[in-house]
Parts: sequence; C-alpha cells; structure tokens
Amino acid sequence: MKQSKVFIPTLREVPAEAEALSHQLLLKAGLIQQNAAGVYSYLPLATRVIQKISEIIREEMERIEAVEVIMPVLQHAELWKESGRWEAYGPELMRLKDRHQREFALGPTHEEVVTALIRNELRSYKQLPLTLFQIQTKFRDEKRPRFGLLRGREFIMKDAYSFHIDEDSLMKTYNDMYNAYYRIFNRVGLNVRAVMADSGAIGGNHTHEFHALSAIGEDTIVYSDNSDYAANIEKAEVIYTPSERTRETENSLEKVETPNVKTVQDLAEFLNVSPSQIVKTMIFKVQGEYVMILVRGDHEVNEVKVKSVFETDDVVMATDEDIQNLLGAKPGSLGPITDKDIKVYADAFIQDIDNFVVGANEDDYHYINANLERDFSVECFHDFRFILEGEPLSDGSGEAKFAEGIEVGQVFVLGQKYAEPMKATILNDQGREQTLTMGCYGIGVSRTLSAIIEQNHDDQGIIWPKSVAPYDIHLITINPKKDDQRELGDELYQTLQKEYDVLYDDRKERAGVKFNDADLIGIPVRVVVGKNAGDGIIEVKRRDTGESNDVHINELADYIQQLND
Ligand code: ATP
Ligand code: MG
Repeated sequence: MKQSKVFIPTLREVPAEAEALSHQLLLKAGLIQQNAAGVYSYLPLATRVIQKISEIIREEMERIEAVEVIMPVLQHAELWKESGRWEAYGPELMRLKDRHQREFALGPTHEEVVTALIRNELRSYKQLPLTLFQIQTKFRDEKRPRFGLLRGREFIMKDAYSFHIDEDSLMKTYNDMYNAYYRIFNRVGLNVRAVMADSGAIGGNHTHEFHALSAIGEDTIVYSDNSDYAANIEKAEVIYTPSERTRETENSLEKVETPNVKTVQDLAEFLNVSPSQIVKTMIFKVQGEYVMILVRGDHEVNEVKVKSVFETDDVVMATDEDIQNLLGAKPGSLGPITDKDIKVYADAFIQDIDNFVVGANEDDYHYINANLERDFSVECFHDFRFILEGEPLSDGSGEAKFAEGIEVGQVFVLGQKYAEPMKATILNDQGREQTLTMGCYGIGVSRTLSAIIEQNHDDQGIIWPKSVAPYDIHLITINPKKDDQRELGDELYQTLQKEYDVLYDDRKERAGVKFNDADLIGIPVRVVVGKNAGDGIIEVKRRDTGESNDVHINELADYIQQLND
C-alpha cells in the first residue's frame, strides 16, 4: 500500500493525557483515536494488527477444535435474569431499552447467550464436547477506563465457551486452552506467565490468568524463583505458623485519647508502638449482615479472600454512615471491644500478638493492652490478608517475589454455574437428562495489542514483532523527485509486494520526517532507496536491532528472506 493513501495521522508531541507508554505510542504513531472515555476508533495500522492477532487466535482455536461463531452484542435482559446476573453484575453492565421498553444489555461477556444457544440445540451427549468461540466487541462501563486500549469501555475480546458431559472432558479442554493460550501469546510476541487466580463473580472454582509482565500492569503477581509457582496477589495464600515466642503478661486494658490521629502510621508514632502492635478493624457487609474483620496494622485486608471465606460475592465494605449508625464512631477509631451484636473474625496473625492497640468505638479514643479472649472473642481465624514480598510461599519453594502484570487472558472452569439455573441439560449415555458442565476462556484482543507495545518499543517508537506487524516491509524513497530513486522505488514496490505486505513511503516529505515516522510506526524491515539507486544499491535496516546493510537489488530477495527466517 502506498503511504500517501493510508491514513496514519502521526503526532510530533506526546499527548499529555496519556500515562501508559503504549497509549502514548498508539496515539503518536497514528493507530487509534479517542471518541469518548474508553472508546476508540482503530485506524488503518491498528486494524491490520488486530486482524493479524485475530488470525493467530483463530489458527490456535481451530487447532484445538474450537469453532467460530458470531453471537449478538445486544442481549435480552431475560437471559441475565435467568442466570441471576442482571442484579449481580452491577453498574458495569451497559443497559438499554428498545422502543417497546424491553430491557437489553450490551454484552460484556456471553455465558448467558451461549448457554441459551446450545440448550435449544444440543440433545445428546454424543454431540459433546463442543467449543464455540467468537472475536467481537464487548462493552463494560468500567469505573476507571484508562491507559488507552488497556482498559476500555468498548474493547475487542476473543471469548470461547466449552460444553461437556463430565469434569474429565472439561479438564481436557481446559488444558488444551491453557496450552493454546501460551502458543498464542508466544506467537504474537508477548512474554506471559500463567498465574493462579480467584474465580470472582463469574463463578467456578479453578482458573488461571495469563499476564504480560509489565510495570504498567494493574495486577500484582506473586511468584517463586525456585519453582513454577505464580499467583495473582488476590489469590496468593499466606502461610501462618504460630510464633515461637512466649506470651507476655497481659497488662490491664486502658482507654487513651488519640486526638486527630488518622492513620495506623500516625497512631504508631503517637503511641510509640510498632504498626504490628496495632489491630485494624474493618467492617464488611456480607450478604446483608455486618461483620468485623481484624488484621494487623502492617497488613492489608484482601476483599477477595473475604469473599472466598464467606463463600459469596455479596461482600461490600461498610460505608462511613453505616459504621456511624452501627458503632457510633468514625472508621479511624473502631475496635472489637463492644457490646453491639456483631461477629468478629480475624486474620490468623492476630493470634500472635498481645497487649495490642485497638479502636475504642469512640472518636479519638483507642484501647491499649487489649488481649484476645480476655477482652473480646473471635468467631474464627482465617487468611484474610495480602501476602507481603519475602514471606514464605504456600508451595514451600521459598520467598514470595512480586512483579506487575497486564491480564491479557483468562481460562475458567465454570462447572454448572450457568447450565443449572438456565436448565441446559442433555441426555447422557443412560438416556437420562443431565446438566451440562462448562468452561469459558477469554483473551483481550485490543488489550493484547497494547501489551505488545508495552513490551516491544524503544525511545523512537514501536518495534512490532514480525508476526503481528501491520506491514512486513517499509519501503522508503528518500527523494522521489529524482528519477532513478522513484523508478527503482516503484519497481521494488511491485516485486516485493508479490511476497510481502509492503508499505511504500512515496510521500514528498523530507527524509528526516520519513525516517522518524518509520521508527515510530515500527515495521520490522526498512528498505531505503537513496543516492546509490543508480548503482542498484539500497539500504536494508532492521527495526529491532538497528542493524543496517547496503545490499544490491539482485541480492535483496535472499537478504530479506534471511531476515524473516
Ligand atoms: P480486569 O480484571 O482487567 O477488569 P476481567 O478479569 O474482568 O479483567 P475477563 O472477564 O476475564 O476480564 O475478560 C477476559 C479478558 O478481556 C481479560 O483477560 C482482558 O484481557 C480483557 N478485558 C477485560 N476487561 C477489559 C477492558 N475493560 N478493556 C480491555 N480489555 C479488557
Ligand atoms: Mg479476568
């Protein structure tokens, strides 16, 4: 394609609104344009990359016998009411009404639609297993759309759903998907790691996320240097071993004034104790009932673990107003010593401390020398907190290491979470009706495009991996006004196009502008027709290493072939 015909609105300046490097480069290299917060147009170069990523995904899905479909984006509310998610999904679900006032959603994911699709069609276990996938635009009204395509409100996803008669069959497909995901991400040039994750609101009980390692990542991954252990920090288990120390004498409980003390750090300084001698009290509403959860002052409560301990997604932090009504104090002065009827749960590490500090449920007052059992009792102890870097890992392989990751994909065992309420049944080999077992598998296609840029760039711009580059070769004539250059350029454009996708910079711009744009756009191989055109000599440069050589046109085909091997 001639560059004069392609729409590539490159920018000279880094757009101020873009924090993430990939977002800056996507705008600067003229790949996307913002239309509304978290909503973008994909311009010609981005469209080509999306197509290349999608093609790789298709090949790998078909290799594991998944078949492509296109399901509706516009989804009936009735289906979401059947699964119970019309309520549960919350404000992220984009809802709308048609002219007859019937309710719909714009699909954020397709478990409901696909379950309704197959329950009307599948009759016998002999039709299983079945895996359907699609590549399509999804909608989620994210609270904080940001980082360009990394967290959009409208984005492209590959989603797949598998249907099985039993758990064994499901686990086989799950493993096939897991391996296919590694192949896909390797092929598109991403360095990823599969990590154990929490299954969250989508349900099920076994899941892995695929993370592209990158400092901009919003997830923390906990991993081991000595084993293949890797988990999302939300999931990473904290190992509690009772401390060896002998219990201190229990001093008498004392209420002290702690004026204007807001944080644990302030309180520690004010009372001259370490934060680990302070117990924080958090109030959660679990299925409508308030509970207290205690963690040490130097630890942070992990809401995902609260959900998993109570086995429900219906967990929210109590508001300041709820807390005031319940305990008569602000969040900074709460504690478990109360005559109010509220159950107290505690992180396992609370068992190790005595004579600790807790809030007195009275603004600006705390108790010192509080002790378990003597002053209050705990329903039970659990792992309620985030692991810290350096703590022991649950697989016994050593210390926890941390890294940041971008979640580019996830595979889930769903079990019967949707099949049961939506009555997706099939006749088994005994001729009896049986509920189906399901899995679901997503890849953020547009997020993957951004993640590829996060991992493949330099100060000059994008460095596309060959597999997904918008073009294979960037052909540039330095001065198209010179006949020999223009003629050789046109000739090479014709011949190279037979084997490669070629972007031909035929624009009447200065050489410096063309080279800057070429570095920014990041096509893997650059072929430059310049002052030696008359002798049949051109320059060939690799975008990744910067290595450049003069090559005679008779040897060009072999030379480029070599670069692509
Ligand atoms: P996140 O935790 O980042 O919000 P998620 O776990 O809710 O993502 P899934 O439901 O697992 O997302 O969706 C499958 C994939 O779709 C994700 O792994 C991610 O790559 C992509 N994805 C999800 N939300 C977005 C978004 N807002 N913008 C771009 N891609 C997204
Ligand atoms: Mg996910």
